[in-house]
Amino acid sequence: MGTTEKAGRAASRAPLSSSLSPSRAADFMRCPLLYRFRVIDKLPEKPSAAATRGTVVHAVLERLFDSPATDRTAPRARAMVPGEWERLLAAKPELAELFATEDGGQDPERLAGWLREAEQLVERWFTLEDPTRLEPAERELYVETALESGLTLRGYIDRVDIAPTGEVRVVDYKTGRAPAPQYRGDALFQMKFYALVLWRLRGVVPRRLQLVYLGSGDVLTYDPVAAELEAVERKLLALWAAIREATETGNWQPRQTKLCGWCDHQALCPEFGGTPPPYPLKVIPAQSDPPGQGRMGQV
Ligand code: SF4
Repeated sequence: MGTTEKAGRAASRAPLSSSLSPSRAADFMRCPLLYRFRVIDKLPEKPSAAATRGTVVHAVLERLFDSPATDRTAPRARAMVPGEWERLLAAKPELAELFATEDGGQDPERLAGWLREAEQLVERWFTLEDPTRLEPAERELYVETALESGLTLRGYIDRVDIAPTGEVRVVDYKTGRAPAPQYRGDALFQMKFYALVLWRLRGVVPRRLQLVYLGSGDVLTYDPVAAELEAVERKLLALWAAIREATETGNWQPRQTKLCGWCDHQALCPEFGGTPPPYPLKVIPAQSDPPGQGRMGQV
């Protein structure tokens, strides 16, 4: 079977999602070609030490609430870090490569330093919030709602607190540093996305959105109003229209920024002299197209 034929068969099997998460929306806004590589081509990416540390820290902050309030102490949370790392490693053995040495062994000092950093992030949380006084209504909550347009919004919310008055607070932990004021809009976009989904699901606009930055020890809060969330919905619909347009035309533009330094796909990116792989979706000639000038189409 030739390469083209294989690509055609792959294309006919490739379902196109009609859902959007905050991270995929952020990918498209950051660089449409990056979105294509991740969502359409599904290219593998190397595990990152920072992202994996974030996963371990999130797991500790979530599971600590399994304990009675009086046991939710900093030393106990710190002590949970190695166990959560082992649990994650058992589920994803490929993460061992983060601490691999050239001769195929493991570097215990690098691992110990990385665990120490995770423990420090967990400890800093106790300077920002007091888990002995919190009883989250939800932790790691999966949310999903379909808009009238047919677009489904989905994602995971780290924590939802509900006050006795019924007011809802949406909390997200970040293991990095708080962004400079001029970049806070990007961080809040994710929170407004969650607020919109919760509002659509439960009929109540969350009272407060709270970002907890463990890297710098900052808490950023924002109180949304319905009109803003409606604006977020319009923005998401426009974003989705742009994604569909790119999917149909195969026109995924690269957008070079300083974040390219963290992109796993530089070797395939025209901005860095690379060539993307053949577009995996089928070409569907449009009736108005002159012969030989088909459009790349959704299947
Ligand atoms: S290297 Fe930069 S421009 Fe190229 S795909 Fe990655 S994020 Fe986009």
